[in-house]
Amino acid sequence: MKVLAIEGPRRSALHEVTTPRPVGDWALVRVTCAPMCTEFKGYREGRVSEGLGHEAVGVVEAVAQEGPVQPGNRVVVMPQYPCGQCTLCLTGDYIHCEHSPDFVAKTGGDTGQATMAQYLIKPMSLLVPIPDEMPDEHAGMACCGLGPTFSACDRLGLSGMDTVLITGLGPVGLGGVINAKHRGSRVIAIDPVAYRRELAASLGADHVLEPTDVTLEHIRDLCRGRGVDKAIECAGVAAAQRLCIDALRRRGEMAFVAEAGDLVVKVSQDLIRKGLTVHGVWHYNMGRTPAMMEQITEMGVQLDQLITHRFPMSGADEAFELQMTGECGKVVLDPWS
Ligand SMILES: [Zn+2]
Ligand SMILES: [Zn+2]
Repeated sequence: MKVLAIEGPRRSALHEVTTPRPVGDWALVRVTCAPMCTEFKGYREGRVSEGLGHEAVGVVEAVAQEGPVQPGNRVVVMPQYPCGQCTLCLTGDYIHCEHSPDFVAKTGGDTGQATMAQYLIKPMSLLVPIPDEMPDEHAGMACCGLGPTFSACDRLGLSGMDTVLITGLGPVGLGGVINAKHRGSRVIAIDPVAYRRELAASLGADHVLEPTDVTLEHIRDLCRGRGVDKAIECAGVAAAQRLCIDALRRRGEMAFVAEAGDLVVKVSQDLIRKGLTVHGVWHYNMGRTPAMMEQITEMGVQLDQLITHRFPMSGADEAFELQMTGECGKVVLDPWS
């Protein structure tokens, strides 16, 4: 099978590798759509790899034993390889599992982890069936397009009572706008890239701001002088993380979603005196997959706006270069063209 590989700075190519085989309760999945995430950073820096991607939709091709899915089923492939047995795994919060098995020892091969590939293997318990009428691309937004901020909305208890600040309007932050509007919240969205601000506005953000123009007074003016009720940080830079904390009202609540940034926190002033609640959010609880699939069916038009570009996997250089400009929403790859 073919996988996408990074061979050096701003250079990718397709490599031929061994097609993985299903073992135990793991299934072989033929990948039909591989949404792109932050792999472009590795492309830019030339981090050599044949194991790209963690988001996928596909069709179950083969299983080694009977289980919850069977060949022919269309599925969303959930990220990571958890143990499946610890308390976190058993309660659906598998994403935080600390006991990932050794992939090679478990599967007897070293291919099948990448999603930017024609096939992958995955425990069947992490394959979420897709309703018949749902397009593969929309289903793929159940990974990072909508997933992390869906979890943030859950953890924050986001509702129509809230004004929420979303910092960073990359594909994850844009998905956050869709999720927050779906729950009826008022959204203030911030990003330096005009393309992304315009896309956020068309997805329903109520106020779209440019970081260099933003003052705390302006944000408070938009919130009856108090500050925002909730914040979802999707930029991964200290300035945006600081803005979230400073813009929150007393007893406000925030979720860190972006995985970068080196924010310095003043415990007394920032947290104790303000009475803030802070969540670290990665992916959502498996028990919430039915709700995720239901909301995707309701969000069709917005997801067509969120997915701005499609590329054949053989043309991935062009996709990476586009992502480096920031002038895109979610970008998806077709591993078979
Ligand atoms: Zn991702
Ligand atoms: Zn576990």
